[in-house]
Amino acid sequence: MFDSIEKLEDVCLKDFCTFKIGGIGKIILFPKNVLELKSVLKECKNNNLKYFILGNGSNVLFPDYYFDKVIISLKNFNVVKVIRQNVVYAESGVNLFALNKFLADNSLAGLEFSFGIPASVGGFVYMNGGAFGQEISNFVLRVKIFENGKVKWLSRKDIDFQYRHSGISGIILGVELKLQSGDKKNIIKKQQENLAIRKENQPYNKFSAGSIFKRENGCIPAKIIDTMGLKGVKIGGAEISKKHAGFIVNNGDAKAIDVIALIQFIKHKTHMNFELEIVVLA
Ligand SMILES: Cc1cc2nc3c(=O)[nH]c(=O)nc-3n(C[C@H](O)[C@H](O)[C@H](O)COP(=O)(O)OP(=O)(O)OC[C@H]3O[C@@H](n4cnc5c(N)ncnc54)[C@H](O)[C@@H]3O)c2cc1C
Repeated sequence: MFDSIEKLEDVCLKDFCTFKIGGIGKIILFPKNVLELKSVLKECKNNNLKYFILGNGSNVLFPDYYFDKVIISLKNFNVVKVIRQNVVYAESGVNLFALNKFLADNSLAGLEFSFGIPASVGGFVYMNGGAFGQEISNFVLRVKIFENGKVKWLSRKDIDFQYRHSGISGIILGVELKLQSGDKKNIIKKQQENLAIRKENQPYNKFSAGSIFKRENGCIPAKIIDTMGLKGVKIGGAEISKKHAGFIVNNGDAKAIDVIALIQFIKHKTHMNFELEIVVLA
């Protein structure tokens, strides 16, 4: 099956997520273009196989057990180019470090807020990622998706962008972004300042999936967790970060069940039914 497609079988899922947690994945496919993606989806459909689209794995919690869904990675969709003045087209598999470097090299400003987030363009658009009061949706002109066997463009107004939510149902192939003209040195300076703030405030050198819970209606889960004195609480190898109460970190040998138990513990102790920001596949 999936004969002509680049693939890895029986993979260690830890290697495909920033949490470094997970059991064995049956297969990961790396289609190189839309034709290959189309054939992958057709084969999934014909064989009644469920699939999961993986970006950079910076927001997912894989299960400890055998994961038998077909994982599709768009890492080979990695073109980024200026298509007209101040407008860039970036494919889904481009990671945000590469995108930010490209933007700085082309003196295009706006996305410096995203520097240091270990995401792919596809995952960041899907999650409507953001930081420092900005979100990727502020820069989106249109999104190219693959849905029901066809390539389509969604204009920004047709997308239900909300806080950490896009509602996009197809597979994101790429995005057109509107930037501003800027000065390369200033852009790099701003990127580095933002990265320094991250390193100062977040457990940046530890394995995590970013913020565990979403902020909702002005409620900041990290603040409540911190106020309750829960920083540093551990279950197995998972720990509520001592540096930032909104993060759960993997101290090296954490299991998905440890993270899930810690999430339950937080909800129980705070009496809050926080909505998850991470995508739990376990
Ligand atoms: C240290 C650290 C710091 C972080 N800081 C931030 C931050 O400041 N702000 C923020 O918003 N997030 C942050 N995150 C979380 C994470 O980086 C974002 O949620 C990011 O958008 C996930 O992108 P990804 O490519 O890794 O997606 P993945 O984690 O691989 O996938 C996330 C979801 O997107 C879907 N998806 C991925 N690619 C596609 C595609 N091409 N088409 C359709 N669906 C797709 C997946 O199916 C999944 O449901 C941080 C994470 C870490 C580890």
